[in-house]
Amino acid sequence: MSVKVISSRMFEAPPGHNCKVCDDPPHAAFSWQYAQEDRGHELHALRDQLKQVKSLKFGHLYACQLCGLNWILDETRSTMTRVPNDRRDILNEWNENQLSIEQEQLRVLDAIGGIATTYCMGHYRLIVVPCAISMRSGERIDPAVVWITDRPPIDDFVSRIKLYQNISIVEPSLFALPMDVRRATVLAGEVSMGFAPTRVVATNGTPFVLHWGTSLFNQDGITGSEIRLSAKRFRMDESIIIAEADFTHATYFFADWFEGAENLNKAQSGNQLYSKLRAFWKRLF
Ligand SMILES: [Zn+2]
Repeated sequence: MSVKVISSRMFEAPPGHNCKVCDDPPHAAFSWQYAQEDRGHELHALRDQLKQVKSLKFGHLYACQLCGLNWILDETRSTMTRVPNDRRDILNEWNENQLSIEQEQLRVLDAIGGIATTYCMGHYRLIVVPCAISMRSGERIDPAVVWITDRPPIDDFVSRIKLYQNISIVEPSLFALPMDVRRATVLAGEVSMGFAPTRVVATNGTPFVLHWGTSLFNQDGITGSEIRLSAKRFRMDESIIIAEADFTHATYFFADWFEGAENLNKAQSGNQLYSKLRAFWKRLF
């Protein structure tokens, strides 16, 4: 069974913002296609007020004629996503700068390996690579996560966002999970609504559960490099610590999507390591 998500809503409108089409109910993202088709739906009223402002380096910028709120339509014109007002400045900077990765840094990122992950809404391309980053200013940021993507930096669940520029050195991070663990988290199935666990164990014997696509680990003095896949399967009745999500401790660096970036995805099916992993899991269960 496939479920077609037509809208994702916010729990409540952001403080100080109350527009009768953007915020009643408050939408975070919705299917642009569906909003065109279903004339009786509340999304149709919202659609009527959104006018294109300009095209961006990826996607298109829209604004609500009633309240001025910005929205972004992705390249494939399928999903409209709200731009929180406090993301306007970084969105503008993202759009006006080319955020490319130097060859030497790309080689390091490729050696670390990335995973491709998807959003429940939108058709964005995204490769996630955990690493440590030294800025030209001398500042060192560890753990960091590089997002190679055509998605603009507008997510407000991520508090620490930087643009991929003025970077001098990219290195592996001790906080990064091993590739087989990261791959397993992407492939993990949902056991209940929105929960896709991967059971892991630290080299000191402590078990944890990772939730869906996870790249980093930094908890109870344990780092990602000390985490292994567990031979035991997660049970719902098990008392076990659910590890903190990446965004609680990572700084996200947004780099531009480019032709060939998909080769950094080391979790794709058909990949030799992936086949070995499948064989590993089959032996376990
Ligand atoms: Zn509005």
